[in-house]
Amino acid sequence: MVVKTDVCIVGGGPGGALLACLLAKRGISVILLERHSGVAREFRGEFLNEEGEDILKKHGLFESVEKRGLLRMDQIEYWNGGRLFKRIFPEMPAEHVGIHVPQNHLLTAILDEAKKLDTFQLMLNSPVTDLIQNEWGRFTGVKVRKDGLDMIVESPLIIGADGRFSTIRKKAGIKAVIKNHGYDLLWAKIPAPKGWQPSIKMALVDDSQVALFTQAGGSIQIGWNIEQGSFSRLRKQPFEPFIEKLLLAFPELIKSARENIRSWNDFILLDVHSSYCETWTKDGVALMGDAAHTMTPTGAFGLNCAMKDADLLAGLIQECIMQGDAEFHGLKIAEPKRKAEIERLQAIQVDKELSFASQFAAYV
Ligand SMILES: Cc1cc2nc3c(=O)[nH]c(=O)nc-3n(C[C@H](O)[C@H](O)[C@H](O)COP(=O)(O)OP(=O)(O)OC[C@H]3O[C@@H](n4cnc5c(N)ncnc54)[C@H](O)[C@@H]3O)c2cc1C
Repeated sequence: MVVKTDVCIVGGGPGGALLACLLAKRGISVILLERHSGVAREFRGEFLNEEGEDILKKHGLFESVEKRGLLRMDQIEYWNGGRLFKRIFPEMPAEHVGIHVPQNHLLTAILDEAKKLDTFQLMLNSPVTDLIQNEWGRFTGVKVRKDGLDMIVESPLIIGADGRFSTIRKKAGIKAVIKNHGYDLLWAKIPAPKGWQPSIKMALVDDSQVALFTQAGGSIQIGWNIEQGSFSRLRKQPFEPFIEKLLLAFPELIKSARENIRSWNDFILLDVHSSYCETWTKDGVALMGDAAHTMTPTGAFGLNCAMKDADLLAGLIQECIMQGDAEFHGLKIAEPKRKAEIERLQAIQVDKELSFASQFAAYV
């Protein structure tokens, strides 16, 4: 089977879903292809900063996300040996230091809005396996395995919004420069103790960052930096002394952590890296979000950058179509400015990672 569309978006994460919605609203036909069967996923980037919040508000989506449930953080706290020693409050006019939005709530709000439009089509269970190229080397479509059957989506513009291990990037022959940051991340989720205030709490454990993120729905996400590549070695060691360090840093967690993190299996490993591509557009393919520029979890920029890409690309794609720019040269022209912004944010991430321990210098 072959279907045709103005724009084919591969990847229904925050970047791809938002772009699909914004294009469909502008009367541009879009097919959004997502390999999973739904949008409920855990251990993803779920903290919105002010820029992400503003984008959702600009497009009338924030209220609908809020109705589904979100949580504003009151403060960032720094803890040492079980004692709080520094707090950072929102800088006026901001009313929070970040908003936790379960990814399910964010994506459902965006996709429900898009589903109201005839120009939007969502295909779940649809992993894209390859790109189709014409005799002049231009990419004209994708091969999809929809519910186990092969099909083709033809489109003059294919968006790779398929995350940090992007198939579209690889198939288009766009090289990504991968940068390791010297650490991986262990994630765990536990119920918040009674009376826990919405906050982000930081501690230094064995010279590494441990962060607690309060989440909507009454839980805490623990993000524990460990030396890169060390998890297989670590998990051969007894678990008790490891978890004991968390409880010393945050004694309030004793009951909840003891009940919910009982072994290494209760942690999920994220191998951390960032990436950078020389080009984000090539012969009918455009990359966005983590596919174009993978961000590390530091500073919670990735989700917000993906949504910013969507906001920007929606306007640019519309302009190209209106001006009869059939090869979407307009996307290439706009690239340098956006790249400079990403380079700046990736440099901030490195800076934050390198300077984290210095915040504790006077207290350890
Ligand atoms: C553990 C963790 C914590 C993080 N914390 C934060 C945070 O708090 N705040 C923040 O701003 N950022 C955070 N980030 C980064 C953030 O999650 C990403 O930058 C963001 O999700 C990028 O959005 P995206 O839409 O580009 O890609 P993704 O969210 O990765 O979405 C890509 C989508 O493409 C689909 N896909 C992949 N391959 C195919 C294929 N071949 N065919 C069809 N579909 C495909 C995937 O299933 C997925 O749905 C975190 C990242 C991780 C891993």
